[in-house]
Amino acid sequence: MKNNNSYKLICFDLDGTLVDDTIYIWETLHDGFLTDPIKRKQACFDYFSGKISYKEWFEHDLVLLSEAGATLSSINKLLSSLSVMKGAKETLSALRTQNKKVAVVSGSIDLVVSHLFSDFEFDHLLINRIYFDKAGNIAGGLHTPYDIEKKADGLLKLCQEEQVLPSQAVFIGDNENDLWIAKQAGLSIAFNCKSEKLSDLCDVTIAQKDLQSILPYIL
Ligand SMILES: [Mg+2]
Repeated sequence: MKNNNSYKLICFDLDGTLVDDTIYIWETLHDGFLTDPIKRKQACFDYFSGKISYKEWFEHDLVLLSEAGATLSSINKLLSSLSVMKGAKETLSALRTQNKKVAVVSGSIDLVVSHLFSDFEFDHLLINRIYFDKAGNIAGGLHTPYDIEKKADGLLKLCQEEQVLPSQAVFIGDNENDLWIAKQAGLSIAFNCKSEKLSDLCDVTIAQKDLQSILPYIL
């Protein structure tokens, strides 16, 4: 951990970090639309046991959601139950003022960003994307190659694009899926943390649920 102004790229997890009232958006969606619990659990098991790829898991989730009646408008209605994390807007604005590059590296969904952060332009968004047809029905999607352990590759890709070293990158996250990217960043911050493994691994753990608490470590 450095104690100077050399951090150039600030990467955020989304669910539970920039966004409150969800732990994982996929769970929020499945719970909200009452998708088939057996098929949902089976797909999760198949992914973590290596039987299916992340892409297949993602596409299977879209089919389950579509079958359960999820559309653009009903998903957006569900997303209205989420809120922006306390202090998130102020934090993003402060980082922008200091000319930091600001990114999201997340296994969440692009709609969550457009729903809650339409007034902020992230420099990079590495996230899953869902497409809708003109009637608002799910018409497919594009999975992120940078979830779970591969979030770390996402950080390295952004470092390359921005021509900064991983030691000049900061990562802020809240849960087990952030372990790998936290290891890769020059400064790792556990925020609103649900994982002892993550808080043990991170350089800093923030106890207060106000994202502005991260700023003194970065600026
Ligand atoms: Mg999270």
